[in-house]
Amino acid sequence: MGLEPLTDAFGRVHRSLRLSVTDRCNLRCRYCMPAEGMAWLGRDELLDADELARLVALFARLGVTDVRVTGGEPLVRPGIAEIVARVKGTPGIREVSITTNGVLLAGQVDELMAAGLDRVNVSVDSLDPERFAQITRRRDLDRVLEGLAACEAHERLRPIKVNAVVLRGISEPDVLPLAELARRRPYVVRFIEAMPLDASREWTREHVMTGQELRAMIHARWPLEPLERERPAAPATQFVSSVTEPFCQQCDRLRVTADGMLRTCLFATDETDLRGPLRAGADDAALERMVRGAVLGKHAGHAIGTEGWTYRGRPMSMIGG
Ligand code: SAM
Ligand code: SF4
Repeated sequence: MGLEPLTDAFGRVHRSLRLSVTDRCNLRCRYCMPAEGMAWLGRDELLDADELARLVALFARLGVTDVRVTGGEPLVRPGIAEIVARVKGTPGIREVSITTNGVLLAGQVDELMAAGLDRVNVSVDSLDPERFAQITRRRDLDRVLEGLAACEAHERLRPIKVNAVVLRGISEPDVLPLAELARRRPYVVRFIEAMPLDASREWTREHVMTGQELRAMIHARWPLEPLERERPAAPATQFVSSVTEPFCQQCDRLRVTADGMLRTCLFATDETDLRGPLRAGADDAALERMVRGAVLGKHAGHAIGTEGWTYRGRPMSMIGG
């Protein structure tokens, strides 16, 4: 602690780390993975629990306070509760959260809470069993709903955030039921524009239902009721419009992939290998220089909303969403 925070060339200070713990998953969401044929990382390519803890401690000394554990599906990683506990126990880390598809949550949330989990984001794109299966290629909606109910039982997990990716031509009937969820239960629902990060490279701009369109749909249904909770700063319905309304200027995020590559942007095509030096015995000062160098090279913003832009980097499930 006490070191200079991680500031990039544009003055953005980095407090938030997305830590991917696996590239594997028990669903096959069509905007993320192909139905078959994903090539998984080998076991020894993944950072182990000690390596994860070492990196989290390093980032915490450099001013990172919030860690979001993600993947792939983090709950398929053996020993995930221990990883959460070690992140939470790291001096300087204020909050540890997890982003999950919820399928395994009912069986694991108690252990995760005991490990110190502060917040959860559950990804559910549809509350209709058929459309859920169409999108995820698995018939697991009931298990996800059980996972949400298990989260509700933990008073400390508030609000429960629900992430929904919206796909034009599929998701239209889901928008209002999901917004309804945000109105009647302890939920914040975040509608996410589909981004060109699918492993199959099938994304086109036509798939993107924009935040603007979604806001219009929801306001048309509930014109008189403000979609806000007690705290106006935290509306119960939020829109993550990375394609049409990027928020790069406020970006304070860094990502470490499951195989130990540091990325300064979801859409970056360059990565900084931390695993190699870590395994070769690099000391903290050397790792710190690498991290600072990467942060200094962070771009001002991405251009995914512009016509003709194509992405050649790794897909979302490999990066950690
Ligand atoms: N498996 C976990 C889950 O689904 O919550 C965590 C990893 S997942 C990659 C993290 C988030 O990224 C999820 O909310 C998912 O819906 C979102 N996501 C995946 N592919 C996406 C894409 N192409 N565009 C926008 N969001 C995407
Ligand atoms: Fe799995 Fe999450 Fe990707 Fe869906 S979005 S396939 S749940 S990693």
